[in-house]
Amino acid sequence: MDCCRRVNPFRACSPLRGLGYLMLAFVAAIVAVSYYAVVVYTWGPLLLGGGGAAAGAAAVLVAFHLLLAMIIWCYLMVVFTDPGAVPENWRHASEEDGIGVNTRTISYNWDATYPNPEGQSAQKYCSRCQNGKPPRCHHCSVYTFVETVLDTLVLLPYFIEFFRDESRRSSSPGDIAILFVTFVLNLAFALSLLCFIGMHASLVTSNTTSIEVHERRNSVSWKYDLGWRKNLEQVFGTKKLLWFLPLYSAEDLHNIGALHGLEFPTRSDAVV
Ligand SMILES: [Zn+2]
Repeated sequence: MDCCRRVNPFRACSPLRGLGYLMLAFVAAIVAVSYYAVVVYTWGPLLLGGGGAAAGAAAVLVAFHLLLAMIIWCYLMVVFTDPGAVPENWRHASEEDGIGVNTRTISYNWDATYPNPEGQSAQKYCSRCQNGKPPRCHHCSVYTFVETVLDTLVLLPYFIEFFRDESRRSSSPGDIAILFVTFVLNLAFALSLLCFIGMHASLVTSNTTSIEVHERRNSVSWKYDLGWRKNLEQVFGTKKLLWFLPLYSAEDLHNIGALHGLEFPTRSDAVV
């Protein structure tokens, strides 16, 4: 049994991390091509040409570069922020007084539950990690949904700016190819982004993860839904100015337990 526990079949998936770096290069390439289409090809020459059009071009380029800085900042935060790990032998607070690890009945289904002494199914165990599984936690694929959404956010402004000015002048075959690639890629990302924004606005205001949607449908009142204001604060923090930046105040990081990912407040009147 012990030797079986040491073998982690998911180690075999570690080369997939390389795929993540490939995606980084892919996103960088899309940003570079889009930058060429918007700044070098379209608005830059207008700015340098002077006259009435220059003021408009300057405004667009300032807004564009502000968005670009925000987008790159958010993207790098998503990619390089350590998601953390469940502490070794971690147990849910409600189980602290329960039975010891060795006497638990463990099913080798990674999402399995095991009974506590009272016979209630209170805590979950992850056989992949050989550790307690905090509520609302799941393993995710190498390239997460959130990253996909942020990739898409990267591309939206490029698409809008580019679409406005694409047909303004005669182009070389190389320029036409770059403009075409930019147009197709950004259109695809922009359309998928629109769906994701709508879906995630609904999820964040109801305090539901994308995996919990099904579970929530089967409950009369969702136990994590504390009201839209508290739900938003749980995700973005209590400092509203920081809602638009990928940052939390030190105070929020300390006070908001949900940000630690182990315990989540639930409503007392929830009906399952
Ligand atoms: Zn696990």
